[in-house]
Amino acid sequence: MTRRIAAEELVRPAYRAMDLYAPLRKPCAIDLSDNTNLRGVPPSAKAALADVVGSTVTRYPSLYGAELKRAIGAYVGVDPENVVTGCGSDDILDSAIRAMSEPGDAIAFADPTFQMLSSFASMNSLEARVVPLLSPERDRDIDDDGLVRENARITYVCSPNNPTGSLASPRAIDKLLESARGVVIVDEAYVEYAIGAGVAESLVRRAPTEPRLLVVRTLSKAFGLAGLRVGYAVGPRALVDAVEKSRGPYKVTAIAERMAVAALDHDREWVRESVAEVLESRAKFEVFLREIGRAPLPSAANFVLVPIDRAVERGLALRERGVAVRPFPSVRGVGDALRISVGPWGLMEQTLSTFEAVLA
Ligand SMILES: *Cc1c(COP(=O)(O)O)cnc(C)c1O
Repeated sequence: MTRRIAAEELVRPAYRAMDLYAPLRKPCAIDLSDNTNLRGVPPSAKAALADVVGSTVTRYPSLYGAELKRAIGAYVGVDPENVVTGCGSDDILDSAIRAMSEPGDAIAFADPTFQMLSSFASMNSLEARVVPLLSPERDRDIDDDGLVRENARITYVCSPNNPTGSLASPRAIDKLLESARGVVIVDEAYVEYAIGAGVAESLVRRAPTEPRLLVVRTLSKAFGLAGLRVGYAVGPRALVDAVEKSRGPYKVTAIAERMAVAALDHDREWVRESVAEVLESRAKFEVFLREIGRAPLPSAANFVLVPIDRAVERGLALRERGVAVRPFPSVRGVGDALRISVGPWGLMEQTLSTFEAVLA
C-alpha cells in the first residue's frame, strides 16, 4: 500500500525552513544596494565579449578554467596550481564548506558578517556558531579567542567585513592560523579597496604555504563583473584540489572565462583608477554624512554602514525616490542601519540629496 505524500516531505528539513535569498531587487535608477562597481564594464573585458560569441559558445567551456587560473595566478602572484575558480565566490564558499565538513559539524563566524553564511550553514547541515565582533573601541576586530573556542571544523572571516566595512587585524588572523581547529576561510571580496587605501594587505601570497588557510576572492566587486559570476580561492594544493572536486567541472562559462581573463590581464589599471575614484568619493560622502549628523562606521570597502533608526522603512522611502540601498534591521553592536555602496561622486551627490529629503 503506498501512501500519498506531500512533495514537501521529500525536501531536507533545513531547505523547507529556508527562505529563498531575495532582498528587494526591483530595478532602481541609482542602485547602491549591492556594492558592485558602478563605473561600467572594464574595456578589455568588453572587447573580449565581441570576440567570444560565435567561436566559443557552441562548445563546452574548459573543465576547470586553466587559462583563468593562469590569469588569476599572475594577478595575485601565486602559482596557478594553488588557485580554484567558481561560479562566483558564493559557489567557492559553498563548495569549500561541502569539501571540508560533514553534516553536523560546526562553522564559526562573526556577527555581523556576510549574510549568505547562515544560508550556507543550513544548506550544508552545519551548526552555525556566531561570535560577536569586538567593540568599536577595538575597531570591530574579529574576536579571535572567541572563534578559536568554538573549536569549529570551519572558521569564516570576512575582511573587509560586509556589512560593517571593518578589518580583521593581522594579529587576530595569525592567531586563527595558529590555533583554530579546522580550516580558516578568509573572504577578501573587498580587499582591492583596502589595498588601494593602504590599510590592509591580501593574504593570498601566504595562502599556498599556510595549511589551514583558504583565501576567497571575486571579480564581482572592484573588477566590475558581477554578472559574469567569477570567483576564486587561493590555498595549499590539498584544499584547493578538494574545493575543485566539490564544485565539479564546467562551472565557469566560456564567455565568463574569456572576459575575466581579458580583464585580469589588461584592465588592472582601470581597476586601480576605479578603486581610487571610490576612495575619494567615499571620503567626501563620509564628510557630508557627518555634517548631517549621520556618521557612518569607518569603512575599508566600497560601501558605508550608516546607523539609522527605522532602516527598513527609510530604505523603502529611498527606493520610491529612485535610490536603492540595503537596509539592515538590528545589526549587532550597531542597531538599525543602511548599507550604501559608494560609486562615482555624481551618483553619491544625488544620493545625498535624496537621503536628506527622506530624513526631512
Ligand atoms: C559580494 C560578496 C561576495 C561576492 O560574491 P560573488 O558570488 O563572487 O558575486 C563574496 N563575499 C562577500 C562578503 C561579498 O560581500
